[in-house]
Amino acid sequence: MTRTVYVNGTYLPETEAKISIFDRGFLMADGVYEVTSVLDGKLIDFDGHCARLGRSLAELEMAAPCSDAELLTIFRDLVRINDIVDGMVYLQVTRGNPGDRDFAYPPADTPPTLVAFTQNKPGLADSPAAKVGWKVISVPDMRWGRRDIKTTQLLYPSMAKMMAKAAAVDDSWFVQDGSVTEGTSNNAYIVKGNRIVTRQLSHDLLHGITRAAVLRLAAEAQMEVEERPFTIAEAQDADEAFVTSASAFVMPVVQIDGVDLAAGKPGPVAARLREIYIDEMRKTAI
Ligand code: PMP
Repeated sequence: MTRTVYVNGTYLPETEAKISIFDRGFLMADGVYEVTSVLDGKLIDFDGHCARLGRSLAELEMAAPCSDAELLTIFRDLVRINDIVDGMVYLQVTRGNPGDRDFAYPPADTPPTLVAFTQNKPGLADSPAAKVGWKVISVPDMRWGRRDIKTTQLLYPSMAKMMAKAAAVDDSWFVQDGSVTEGTSNNAYIVKGNRIVTRQLSHDLLHGITRAAVLRLAAEAQMEVEERPFTIAEAQDADEAFVTSASAFVMPVVQIDGVDLAAGKPGPVAARLREIYIDEMRKTAI
């Protein structure tokens, strides 16, 4: 089926969507993005994604292409037109098309480029992977220093995903100065006893929207949360581990650099948080 996508105010078939070769997103990765999940035809944590988009744009002095209310209309239109029950809405905003290539930002009145499209993922919340868990390897974190801004510079995370594939595992965890920053496209956690440990927010990692919801729900469920860095050795010695992201929700991690956690089976804390998170998101989806 040909998708209907959104480009700068127009809904059109994906085969007809066009962006200029001078677009700053294309030439400089001068763009930011958001991925919002859809369950039962409704958007998960839309407000959280809007807030982070606003922050990414502000950090890069990039103009907002439209209001949050207009974005909601676009997202809902795309979900409806493309018959998405479970899946994702991908949104990208770039600094637009200055009409030539130049390192300096174009004049502030250059219109930003706004692109959005859906991805159909039937049964998104019932992923078979969540029942077996992911295996991960550690790789050096060689990304730039502002990972809190959700830019489209995803080459190193793509390389890290390929390193994981080459090692026949599911993902890579980035390690900087001896401790884990996050996964290629998710935030990383370990569990020891009743305590969940995850790295504190800083420029070193993306401020996950799922992370914020899961930490809030964990606290409400009387689980202890400690925000601090942890090493791979500490993770390998943990009772369990997991990652969170808008599309994977809460995903158990059962092996780190070849060492099995809890006999290589998803742990109860990750399973419970996954259930609580999905329940809550279904209730609050719009
Ligand atoms: N870290 C990185 C590097 C990511 O790419 C993502 C997903 N975009 C996350 C964390 C998780 O963020 P969220 O929960 O908002 O999807």
